[in-house]
Amino acid sequence: MARVWNFSAGPSALPLEVLEQARDELTDWHGSGMSVMEMSHRGKDFGTIIDAAEADLRDLLDVPTNYKVLFLQGGATQLFSQIPLNLADSRSADYLVTGSWSKKAVEEAQRVAPIAGAVRVAGSTAAKGAVADGFTRFLRDEEISLDPQAAFLHVCTNETIYGVEVQDDCAHLAARAGAVPLVADMSSHILSRPVDVSRYGMIYAGAQKNIGPSGLVIAIVREDLLGRAVKTMPSTMDFAIAAENGSMLNTPPTFGIYVSGLVFQWLKRQGGVAAMEQINRRKAELLYGYIDGSNGFYRNPVDVPDRSRMNVPFTLQNSALDDVFLKEAQAAGLHALKGHKSVGGMRASIYNAMPLEGVQALVEFMQDFARRNG
Ligand SMILES: *Cc1c(COP(=O)(O)O)cnc(C)c1O
Repeated sequence: MARVWNFSAGPSALPLEVLEQARDELTDWHGSGMSVMEMSHRGKDFGTIIDAAEADLRDLLDVPTNYKVLFLQGGATQLFSQIPLNLADSRSADYLVTGSWSKKAVEEAQRVAPIAGAVRVAGSTAAKGAVADGFTRFLRDEEISLDPQAAFLHVCTNETIYGVEVQDDCAHLAARAGAVPLVADMSSHILSRPVDVSRYGMIYAGAQKNIGPSGLVIAIVREDLLGRAVKTMPSTMDFAIAAENGSMLNTPPTFGIYVSGLVFQWLKRQGGVAAMEQINRRKAELLYGYIDGSNGFYRNPVDVPDRSRMNVPFTLQNSALDDVFLKEAQAAGLHALKGHKSVGGMRASIYNAMPLEGVQALVEFMQDFARRNG
């Protein structure tokens, strides 16, 4: 069996142990005589699976008891409109724009603004950075102007496409926001390091980056923020109804919840999110260290303190070599390194499931490529 090093930004690599366990249990889950895909979501067996998944996630992130964990559908993109529809309560909401995903969040919120509440950009790094459309750093303090009456303050804590990450777990931003609840899109770095959930009103993440299969999005919402949804809200989109029904108003994405649960168990076996942070730090230091020391052959455009540990975009000094780089990388078993079309160049996504050996293999290839083409 040939597994490649998969640097895809999402859907992305899953731990091999998890895939093997899912394979072993695929046709007969724990003696039930059926696959998780085939069992009723209302049955006892699936109840065990979803309860364990929630309990393990709560353990991993130390989720306080006054927060609900919701297993939702529609992806992070649907949440971009679902969040104002649920939380804005006809008031204005503040948004920080630091990359493509937070920009999309604004656009989606604007679509529902007539019924949900106004959208206000409280700070933006658009066109302020070194690349064409900016987004090569997080906002500086003086670039953020907050509305103390805002219904919430939305932030994307890891911009997957540009590789910009908030490094301090929003300690500074939460302090500035005061009573205004922080709503954080953590799709591409959730579970990569510890988080103080109590700093946030809501955290959400599409599963397909750093959790499990696509089709599932996880939300962690403070209870006092529930029950403010617009009156015309479809019941499938109402967080309070999802919470009341244990994420099972209707059929949830059962297989995705099951595999995500296996990933949570795998994370606990690795030592939890604090241990993952150590490994992720080493992986990122290795790759950025090599890029920065390559005498300009490779370059990462993001301000050093704001660089993402999960998504590492980089360009070749000579972009005419891009195609041959990608072709040779693929032949060497290093897959999905092509950068996002809006940035160009390359991007290595090195989520939890990417071991240090994978990053070492990438760096060795990059060294060899630079030697041959420098
Ligand atoms: C991928 C991504 C999204 C969009 O996720 P979908 O599940 O495709 O809707 C949103 N935010 C961030 C930070 C992402 O990385």
